[in-house]
Amino acid sequence: MSKRDYYEILEVSKSASPEEIKKAYRKMAIKFHPDKNPGDKAAEEKFKEAAEAYEVLSDGNKKARYDQYGHAGMNGGGGFGGGGFGGGMNMDDIFSQFGDIFGGHFGGGGGQQRQQLRGSNLRVRIKLNLEEMVNGTQKTIKVKKMKLAPGATSKTCPTCHGSGVQMKVMNTMFGQMQTQTHCGTCQGIGKIADKIPAGANSQGLIKEDEEVTINIPAGAREGIQLNVRGKGNDAPFGGTPGDLLVVVEEEVDAHIKREGDNLHQELYISFAEAALGTHKEIPTVGGKVKIKVDAGTQSGKILRLSKKGLPSIDSYGTGDMFVHINVWTPQNLSKEQKDFFEKQLANGDMVAEPSGKEKTFFEKVRDLFD
Ligand SMILES: [Zn+2]
Repeated sequence: MSKRDYYEILEVSKSASPEEIKKAYRKMAIKFHPDKNPGDKAAEEKFKEAAEAYEVLSDGNKKARYDQYGHAGMNGGGGFGGGGFGGGMNMDDIFSQFGDIFGGHFGGGGGQQRQQLRGSNLRVRIKLNLEEMVNGTQKTIKVKKMKLAPGATSKTCPTCHGSGVQMKVMNTMFGQMQTQTHCGTCQGIGKIADKIPAGANSQGLIKEDEEVTINIPAGAREGIQLNVRGKGNDAPFGGTPGDLLVVVEEEVDAHIKREGDNLHQELYISFAEAALGTHKEIPTVGGKVKIKVDAGTQSGKILRLSKKGLPSIDSYGTGDMFVHINVWTPQNLSKEQKDFFEKQLANGDMVAEPSGKEKTFFEKVRDLFD
């Protein structure tokens, strides 16, 4: 039998690009694949023929040799230094060399092991105040979780006899091949429920409250998730429990507002304190701090307490605390006070006297970011 021309086999022109050759081979390989043509010897021959053609035409050197000398150039003789094609490829070669071309249409499945079933994860939210987030803390919370019910027993899965896998026989180009899949009866665990106590589900699990103590590391922030391993739902029959995922929520602080690593708080002082000056104790995450308010302090002044904010998460820095001062205008004056202020007004004392050096609101805001 005379050998057919490789280009003819793949039904491409001599000027076909490598991509076109590859595509043409893929088409042939799928068309004549033994899986699609079981027992058809002619199809198998064509499948091998196409693989041989592709083996040559997809290799630059071999293709050049073939283009120049035809099949004569492919037989290893004539000073070409061996490596010729010889007596055709066998099926194993074809599959191992060009398997990727089939793009997963064919081929055996990967081996699967008995599954260690994991319980599902539980998610809870936990509220922390600023101090707890900065310094870390320990919290004990109650979670509702699925636990293996007392008295629940299991037995070996009758379908897979405990292996967790089922064998499936597939016809492939290698001939018959066994592949493994998870056992459908036990979902791969190898065990199924035997005795199920009242109230438990078909997997022997029952919902119960459990107290869990969670260590919150210093530097937690709103939205971060802590993973407490093994404190989620139990898995049925000897699997590993899932995890407890704790999402941190920031408790809204009545006095301190957070802005990145910086903290802000309002400080109200009386008219007299603003005029005469005073000392005030203010809360910070590190405890109370005494600050000085100068005599003649104007409402709207912002005091900056360096490094009294939060430690930065992504750098070594620490934010600042900004204290926004509000001068409280007296609202219910006594007769005496009223007389005093009226006298001031009549005398032309105590009038607003901006020097021109007062900072506008916008300048104050700008200063915060300097
Ligand atoms: Zn099974």
